[in-house]
Amino acid sequence: MVQLQYNFMDVNNQAGEKGLKLAGEKGIPVVIMEGLLGGRLSKAPDNVQALYDAFPVKRTAVEWAFRWLCNHPEVAVVLSGCNEPEQIEENLRIFDTVEPGVMDENELKLIENVRAAYLDRTKIGCTGCKYCMPCPNDVNIPGIFSVWNNVSLYCTDPAKDWGLKRIKENGNGADKCVGCGACEAACPQHLQIIEQLKSAWEELG
Ligand code: SF4
Ligand code: SF4
Repeated sequence: MVQLQYNFMDVNNQAGEKGLKLAGEKGIPVVIMEGLLGGRLSKAPDNVQALYDAFPVKRTAVEWAFRWLCNHPEVAVVLSGCNEPEQIEENLRIFDTVEPGVMDENELKLIENVRAAYLDRTKIGCTGCKYCMPCPNDVNIPGIFSVWNNVSLYCTDPAKDWGLKRIKENGNGADKCVGCGACEAACPQHLQIIEQLKSAWEELG
């Protein structure tokens, strides 16, 4: 078997959809982890919830995420972390009603729109290429931008973000930036890194 991180926001992350399809072609059962992206897909932000609410069939964000996973014939098992007995009950109910190919065209379109709505919340188009690194003052530029995007996409609390905590503990924060401009000259996306770092650091507290 193979175990993959997979969810409707992670189709191109790590092995992604390509890895899922390859495993399927080789007859290798796939076990899915991070199906709810560490719980982040279980609470939809307003613009995503509006799409779920407008769909004729009402389902929770959790149900949509699991339903989408189980729609894939390659998926053998979906791992799901639960904190409360109610979540186990909800999972049992959901997994009783899903199977490969269960989603129709409109449902698949909904998830496409949901993905786009999440991505609309992106703060900065940093690809994480790291061409700007290393910063002479040890600022973790792609790390800060990644946290900034994730906090915005999934409406999470920056104070609980382990990535941000690590950046602060290691002294790689944007407060170290002296504005030398070396990173901006190297960025293939032509991002205004200095200004954006300031905004990110301010918003992330
Ligand atoms: S401008 Fe700031 S972040 Fe960019 S390389 Fe210089 S010190 Fe590092
Ligand atoms: S070079 Fe630009 S796109 Fe690449 S990691 Fe740095 S800021 Fe992001």
